Amino acid sequence: MRRRMVLAVSLGLALAAMVAVRPAGAQTLAVEDPVLRQIWDHAMNRSQIEPMMQVFLDSLGPRLTASPASERAQAWIVSKLQSWGIEAERQQYGTWEAWERGTSHIDLIAPRVHSLEGRILAWSPGTGGEPVEGPVVVLPKMVSAADFEAFLPQVKGKYVMISFPQPTCRPNAHWEQYAAPGSFERMNKARQEGQEAWNASLQATGLSNRDIPKRLEAAGALGIVTSQWSGAYGTTRVFNAYTRKVPTFELGCEDYSLVYRLTANNQGPRLRVTAESKNLGEVPVHNVVGTIRGTQLPNEYVMLSAHLDTWDGGTGATDNSTGSMLMMEAMRILKQVYPNPKRTIIMGLWNSEEQGLNGSRAYVEDHPDIVQNLQALFNQDNGTGRIVNLSASGFVDAGESLARWLARAPSEVTQGINFNVLGMPSGGGTDHAPFVCAGAPGFSLGALNWGYSEHTWHTQRDTYDKLVFDDLKNNAVLVASLVYLASEDPQKVGRTKRMVFPVNPQTGQQGSWPICTPATRKSTDSSRM
Ligand SMILES: [Zn+2]
Repeated sequence: MRRRMVLAVSLGLALAAMVAVRPAGAQTLAVEDPVLRQIWDHAMNRSQIEPMMQVFLDSLGPRLTASPASERAQAWIVSKLQSWGIEAERQQYGTWEAWERGTSHIDLIAPRVHSLEGRILAWSPGTGGEPVEGPVVVLPKMVSAADFEAFLPQVKGKYVMISFPQPTCRPNAHWEQYAAPGSFERMNKARQEGQEAWNASLQATGLSNRDIPKRLEAAGALGIVTSQWSGAYGTTRVFNAYTRKVPTFELGCEDYSLVYRLTANNQGPRLRVTAESKNLGEVPVHNVVGTIRGTQLPNEYVMLSAHLDTWDGGTGATDNSTGSMLMMEAMRILKQVYPNPKRTIIMGLWNSEEQGLNGSRAYVEDHPDIVQNLQALFNQDNGTGRIVNLSASGFVDAGESLARWLARAPSEVTQGINFNVLGMPSGGGTDHAPFVCAGAPGFSLGALNWGYSEHTWHTQRDTYDKLVFDDLKNNAVLVASLVYLASEDPQKVGRTKRMVFPVNPQTGQQGSWPICTPATRKSTDSSRM
């Protein structure tokens, strides 16, 4: 308790000092440390993030786990690191089902012609590039498993719509702003009740969301039509398929609801789907690891961490190309201005985060020596914005170390940070969690949202144009500075003293430190999301 009070006071003073010395423009920098000044100069005036991102996103594209595109991107990263003189390798940790996306064309051909916005989901079979035409059926309201069984004969030779049709593809905020009194409330009630009724109907089948498409496929459906609107204009989340022979594809909110209304009103819609994809079987999968060897404490480690894999509806610009390229840029700068670090600096760009943090979990399992001697790990995985949230992940003494580093880093990049001296250990969600559950000080660098949740996260709109390069440069200064300060710190970050968990008022149980989940190192049907 006493320690925390002292910390709060000293951090408060440090922050007050930062505010006081803040310069008016970005040209001057209020730190004396020559390495920190050079980090700033390289990140702000000689940034490589923009040209790297352009190649990475526009040319190499999305990096679905085990896809050929992901292999190409990994090779590019290794060669980029090596061209900067950084030791780099791909470390195999398992195998995964490789799949390559081809073209998708989905057209409405009756009662009128209209090309639809959509694509097959990841790992979906295509149509062999041939057009496959057929009528459409929607899932009926079901109250029992018997209802589903009774419906199954109707799906033969038809496309089956299995997602809730949104009553409006206008975001709620638009309704709140413009609707007449009572109108938004009526619409929103219909939206919520409709979604709940749809979910209840799916649940009544007694089957999981992954088994329903499989049963429809087995009953002779031509394909499965889905839609997962994110709540913003024009955005759809694009995850993976569960079918093995026929295509599962998504349509945007507008087109899905169009086809749904035509079907529900018996206006005879027919779809023509032409899709290509290749399933390439189980292949080796890797993490990409870059290393700058320590000179004084080579067996202690500071890590930069982000996941390299993405979903593939867009190019994964903000999830998590921003984190990956941020760590690349920080490594490039550190190699230039701090080539002989005190501790060993390792960058881990993890694979298969989206299927359950598999790359980082495997790394933690495979490198107990590094986990044991980890000084600090910094992970970033929530988009393009300036980093504004940091906590000690529940490690009581780590808060003091972080506070000291933040006090020394340039105030230009720390002044907006909401620093929680203690914080909570992450139970999952992203790649610092496997380190934290193993007792190693892993920290999450939380970014400003920039519409991440509704616009870009796992959507087909997660693309290059959403990047905010000024914020990414800010983050490169922060990450490279924190890594440098963590590496140089004469003190080892404390990890044994952990937070005392509050009692959950609902269960009466006291919370506890998260338990590590084993990595899934081989794809199976159940390892699909
Ligand atoms: Zn992510």
